Order: sequence, then structure tokens, then C-alpha cells
Amino acid sequence: MLSCPKCQVTIRGSKTCCPLCGGRVQGEPEPSPFPLIVPKKVNPFTVLRLSTFICIAAEIILLTVHYLTDFDNHWLTFSMICTGLVWLDISMTVNYRRNLIKMLSLQAYFVCAAAVFIDIYSGYRGWSIAWLIPLGLTAISIATVCIGKGLKMLLEEYIIFLAVDMLLSFLQMIPILLDLNPFKLPAVLSMAFLLICGIAAVIFFRKDLASAASKLFNI
Ligand SMILES: [Zn+2]
Repeated sequence: MLSCPKCQVTIRGSKTCCPLCGGRVQGEPEPSPFPLIVPKKVNPFTVLRLSTFICIAAEIILLTVHYLTDFDNHWLTFSMICTGLVWLDISMTVNYRRNLIKMLSLQAYFVCAAAVFIDIYSGYRGWSIAWLIPLGLTAISIATVCIGKGLKMLLEEYIIFLAVDMLLSFLQMIPILLDLNPFKLPAVLSMAFLLICGIAAVIFFRKDLASAASKLFNI
């Protein structure tokens, strides 16, 4: 075992100098009693930094190509916004990676919003509102329950995400009322499905809902 002649202490592990006085140690080093933690080579924030760089570089390249070749302006703006959306999505994934349900829910809302944007920008055909949003919201609410059950989470930990899914699904009323939805059946079915789930939550899981709400709003 190592020891410091100055401080009169024994030192475990293999140190080259005394942790107290910084002086020379004597004796034979022994294997460290603490497990060695190897730092992860790929840190999520490294991924984020890298993707930030790639996205900014892509934006600059797009602008340069546009300047040099007199590109179609419509296409340029569209690809620049898409690059920004990809970056936002990556940063969201990195920031919320520890909460799978939160991450997937935010991803789903984000994809829905981005799809509406792409749909409008690429000459509105309504596929986002007719298909992607109703299927997306239904799928994410089913996935939320499956993940919650799979990870043995308490219902009050994820019921709020189901409530948000339901509330967001009612926004589908707006394009229906404005007659912007070319095929209403999926939207109507998804609203009905989530409404039934919501009523079931209020009737059978009132306590979980109240507990989740009080945590969310700090009541
Ligand atoms: Zn010492």
C-alpha cells in the first residue's frame, strides 16, 4: 500500500502523489478499490454539436449554390426550412432522450406540424390533415400506453401525454369545419377513439389524472 511520509497517511489505489499535500508517496501501488469509469466515446451532446455544424454548413452551401446558380427561390426556402426542422428534431431527441414517452410524443407533434407545413408548401393536397395527423395521434397514444405498461410506469406519469394527444386531436375539427380536409374519415375516427379513451380516463382513472394535473401545474 502507498503512504505519504509527510502526512502519515496510507493511500489506496495507485497514485503518483499524495492527495493531501501533493508530495511524493512511498510503497507499492495496488489496484484501485473503485471501479474505473470509462467516459463514453459518443456523447449525445457531441452528436448535437456535430448535427448543428452539419445543418449550418448545409444552410450555407444551399445559400451559396443559390447565389451562384440562380436557383428556384421556392425550392431554396423549402430546403432551408427542412434543414432547420431536421436540426430541431435532433436537438429534441438529444434533450429528451431520458424520457421516452415525452420524446416520442414531442417527436410526433413535431412531425405532424412539419407535415402540415410541407403539405402547404408543396401545393396543398391535404394528405397531412387527412392521413398523417389522425394516424399519428392515434399511433402515439397507443404507443404511449404500451411504453408506459412496458416500462412499468405509473399511469399518472404518462396520462398527461394522452390528455394532450386527445386535446390536439380536437384541433382536427378546424380543417373539417373550414372544409380543408379532403378525406374526413380518419380524422373523425381518431377524434372519436381518443374521446372515448379520454372519457374512460375521467371515469376510471380520475385519481391518476388529478395527481398528474396537480404535479404539472404545482397545485
Ligand atoms: Zn501527504
